[in-house]
Amino acid sequence: MESNAPTTTSNPAPAVDAPDNANAECVGPSSEKAGKSSACAGCPNQQACSSGAFNSPEAKAKAQEEAERLQSSFHNVSHTILVLSGKGGVGKSTVAAQLAHTLASEGYAVGLLDVDLCGPSAPRMVLGDHHRTAQITQSASGGWIPVYNPDHPNLACMSISFLLQDHDSAVVWRGPRKNGLIQQFLTQVDWTGETDGLDYLIVDTPPGTSDEHISTVQYLQKAGPSTISGAILVTTPEEVSMADVRKELNFCQKTNVPILGVVENMGQYITTLPKLRFLSPDGKTDCTDDILKQLQESCPQILSTLVTATIYPPTGGGPKAMAEQYQVPYWGVLPMDPDLLQACESGKAFVEACPDSMAAKALQCFCKNITTKLPVEEIE
Ligand code: ADP
Repeated sequence: MESNAPTTTSNPAPAVDAPDNANAECVGPSSEKAGKSSACAGCPNQQACSSGAFNSPEAKAKAQEEAERLQSSFHNVSHTILVLSGKGGVGKSTVAAQLAHTLASEGYAVGLLDVDLCGPSAPRMVLGDHHRTAQITQSASGGWIPVYNPDHPNLACMSISFLLQDHDSAVVWRGPRKNGLIQQFLTQVDWTGETDGLDYLIVDTPPGTSDEHISTVQYLQKAGPSTISGAILVTTPEEVSMADVRKELNFCQKTNVPILGVVENMGQYITTLPKLRFLSPDGKTDCTDDILKQLQESCPQILSTLVTATIYPPTGGGPKAMAEQYQVPYWGVLPMDPDLLQACESGKAFVEACPDSMAAKALQCFCKNITTKLPVEEIE
């Protein structure tokens, strides 16, 4: 299996972790600039860092131990892909879940790790109603066994919602506790399953560049610089969403996470006339049946013609121009499609439910980009 997963031999000694309350642009306690960089100004750890307290042999041994634990968790994961968005509601979880479904329906072994601790959507989108009763179990080695899709044993999901007794309860945690859980998710999930490891682990992150992102990226990179194969950025085409995606692009560049592609979601609505509702001019009466009947009689071919509307008019050149500006690949539009929403609600693979739709073709194309850029050994 061609793998980007970390090896235990080639990585340099891991850096000591930034403390949880460090400034966002922390240079790392083991850096020569620790305590002296401009990013250290105002950090509560500045004094301790410049004294070398975080760089003690004990701290280094702890970092080494953590790195080894991560390396062993990821040794059977070929590629780890982060799915990021600047804002909530732009379709990040939809893209993450449907990429996982599409890759799984092509035969790859796929895991979806949901680190959106406060708004976990992945379990419903991957497992449908099964997510309500699904429970994680422990493997012989004490790791968590993720929950597998009932129709696709090569598609697994792990989320905080499996650990909550009440799926509707809110997670109200401060940074250090969230960081601790993310660390557990990254080191304790046993992805071995029936497939002997994963071809692709897709990580659904919360929107923005929050603690969870910084923790996820930092922990994964502790296992080795190539542990994160890349990130997919999801945005809607208007400036309000793109402004925050630029921050994600900068975050990825600063943290050396390669950007695989930018997905423009919901820019276009594509459907056929029979799926629309027609209203009277005052908006009060539904005249769909009458209009469809008239169309059926006078020009039936129009009923199968695709019709489109622009829901979010792109600002400036839209996500395509943004991707060009940052010199990262633009993957294209994932159209808004009510059937796609339905597939997500029921935890189904949209490419199997509506294989001829434009949105299914877009998803297949995105997956082709993934499998071309991040190949794994031939699957049967
Ligand atoms: P985020 O993870 O960015 O917060 P979600 O993926 O949860 O956003 O999407 C928000 C809602 O929009 C969900 O109900 C989802 O099914 C729907 N949605 C997202 N993308 C599409 C799309 N292309 N077509 C139809 N519905 C979509």
